[in-house]
Amino acid sequence: MRRYPPKRPSTPEVSQSVIEVLQKHYDKYFQGSGREIFSLLLMIIVGGFVLHKLSSVSLKWLNQNQIIDQITEETSIENLSAMPEAYVQDIELSNTEPQSPYLINPLTHTGWKQYIVAPGDTLTQVLKKAGLSTETWQEIMGLGKHARHISRVHPGQAINIESQNGFFIGLNQSLDPVRTLYILRQKDGALASFIHEKELQTRVTFGSANIEDSLFLSGKRANIDDNILMQLAEIFGCVVDFAHDIHANDSFKVLYEEQFVDGEKIGTGNVLAIEFNNNGKTHQAIRYTDPQGKTGYYSPNGMSLKRAFLRTPVKFSRISSYFTHQRRHPILHKIRAHKGVDYAAPAGTPVKAVGDGVIAFQGRKGGYGKTLILEHGEKRSTLYAHLSGFAKNVGPGKRVSQGQVIGYVGATGLATAPHLHFEIRINGQHRDPLTLPLPQTVPVPVPQRQIFLAQATQLMSLLEYHEKIMMASNEY
Ligand SMILES: [Zn+2]
Repeated sequence: MRRYPPKRPSTPEVSQSVIEVLQKHYDKYFQGSGREIFSLLLMIIVGGFVLHKLSSVSLKWLNQNQIIDQITEETSIENLSAMPEAYVQDIELSNTEPQSPYLINPLTHTGWKQYIVAPGDTLTQVLKKAGLSTETWQEIMGLGKHARHISRVHPGQAINIESQNGFFIGLNQSLDPVRTLYILRQKDGALASFIHEKELQTRVTFGSANIEDSLFLSGKRANIDDNILMQLAEIFGCVVDFAHDIHANDSFKVLYEEQFVDGEKIGTGNVLAIEFNNNGKTHQAIRYTDPQGKTGYYSPNGMSLKRAFLRTPVKFSRISSYFTHQRRHPILHKIRAHKGVDYAAPAGTPVKAVGDGVIAFQGRKGGYGKTLILEHGEKRSTLYAHLSGFAKNVGPGKRVSQGQVIGYVGATGLATAPHLHFEIRINGQHRDPLTLPLPQTVPVPVPQRQIFLAQATQLMSLLEYHEKIMMASNEY
C-alpha cells in the first residue's frame, strides 16, 4: 500500500502579539544599559516559547505517524472497539483522499481478509468468523437496498471483510465481473454502501463459421459464444426458420463486441454487423441506434429486419374461433359476428405486443374481461381480451415494443376456457388477423438515412476486410 506521510504542520506563528506587547514595554520602560539585559531576557522568553511550541508539534506529529504505521501495517490497534472515535480522527491522515468519508480507502486498501461462504453458512455466521457480532449484522441490514445483495449468501462466495478487534470497518463482495458491493464505516461512525463499477472496455472482433451440423455446435467450434449465436438467430428470426431451414454449407461472418475488464475478457456484447448465407441466399444486418435511443437491425439498404407486426401475439395450442361475420356465441347462444381470432392456450401463457405501440386502454371491458388495446400509429390498433392479468411494466399511455409481454392468457369476461381473443383494426374497421397481409417492414426514417448508410457501408467493408485477412492467413 502506498503511504502518504502527513504534511508536517508548519512552524507555529509565535504569536506576533506577544513580541509586540513586550516590545512596547521595552521601549517604554527600559532605556540605555537595561536594554541589553532586557534583550537577553526577551530572547530567552521568546526562544523558550518557540521551542516549546515546536516540540509539542513534533511530538504530536510523531504520535500520528506511529498510528499511521499501526494502521497501514494492519497491526492491532488497542481498544479500538472501545474508542472508535479516536480511530476515526487519527486515520484521517492515512487516507489518500482527504475528502474520503470512509475509514479506509476502499479501492486501494489491501488488508481485506477473505472469507469463503461454507455450505449452510448465513451472513451472520460469516461475520462471526470475522469476529463480528450480530450488532454488525443488524447495522448492515439497516442499509436497505444494498443490504439485500448480501443478506443471502451462497456457498463458495467470497466476502472480504476488514475489522479490528470486533469493530467493523468494511466489507466488499463482487456481484459480477464489473460490479463490487462495498459496505464501509464512515468517519462519522455510520455505515454507508455503494456499488463500484469497473470500467468496461469493448473491442470489435471478427468471427466466422461454416455450418456443418447445428448453428450452435459450429459456432462453438469457431469460438463464437452463445450470446452472439442467439443474437444471430434473433436478428434473422423473421427471414430464416432456424428450426428447419439450416443446411450444411450455410455460413456466417460477424463483427461483434468483446468486453474486457482490467484487460481480461469477461464476455461479449452486441452484434454490430452480420452476414448469414442460408441455402444460397445472403442475409445481411447492421445494428443501428436512432437519435431517440431505439436500436434495431437493418439491411444495408436501411430496411428493418423485423416485420411491423408479428403474425401471432401468443404461443397457442389451436385456433378455437376464426374471424367471421356470423357465428353462434358459445355463451350467449345468439348469432353474432366474431371480429377477431381466438387462440386457445393455457392460462398464464404470456401475451406479446404484435408491434411497437402505445397502450390506449388497459382494464376491464364488459364481456372482453381484462383487456388491452394498443395503438400502433397509422390508424392501426390491436386488442387483447380475456386476460388473466397484465404484465408488470405496462400501464395506460405507456410505450411497448414488438414482442414485449403485455399480459397473460386467462378466461375473464365471457369466456368458457382460457384463450386469447385478438383483434386488429385498421381505420376503425375490424380485419381478419389471419388473412390480413402483414404490414411491410419499417425502414430507417428518412432524416437518419444518410447517417445510417454511411455507417452501414463502413461496417460492411470492415466485415469484408476481416474476412480477407482471415482467408489470407489460412493459406499458409
Ligand atoms: Zn373471441
